Amino acid sequence: MMKVFNLSCELEHTFEGWFASHEEFDRQIAADLVACPVCGSHDVRKLLSAPHLNISGAQEPAAAGKEPAKEPVAMPNEAAMRAMLAQMARHIIANTEDVGEQFPEEARRIHYEEAPRRSIRGVASKEEAAALEDEGIEVMPLPLADALKNTLQ
Ligand SMILES: [Zn+2]
Repeated sequence: MMKVFNLSCELEHTFEGWFASHEEFDRQIAADLVACPVCGSHDVRKLLSAPHLNISGAQEPAAAGKEPAKEPVAMPNEAAMRAMLAQMARHIIANTEDVGEQFPEEARRIHYEEAPRRSIRGVASKEEAAALEDEGIEVMPLPLADALKNTLQ
């Protein structure tokens, strides 16, 4: 099992050093055996982050957790958001059965398996939607549905 330390040279190049033990790390630092891979400096110090153990030994030192995992992110402007919502609404409208005013009743029948399981859309008052939610029936508002009606039919 190797110990991995996050190290930095005097020029703030950060890199990982792998050592058999903390004592071995201290020994190699004292003997100037640790050098920055970027500039070759021997003025190396350990960063404050706690050392972690490489238990599997499978990872190469260069690839071992250098960067934290990243998630895709975006900051769309309003036009992009509207376009996305419109696309989503079109997709939902194309893939749901329109039950109109019957929506709350039909949603209940599907939920309680009195009607075939399928995707539906329709209209519901705020109160009706809240009542469905209370029964554990998840209903989502359909954005821009009115605006799309004319273009779809
Ligand atoms: Zn360096």
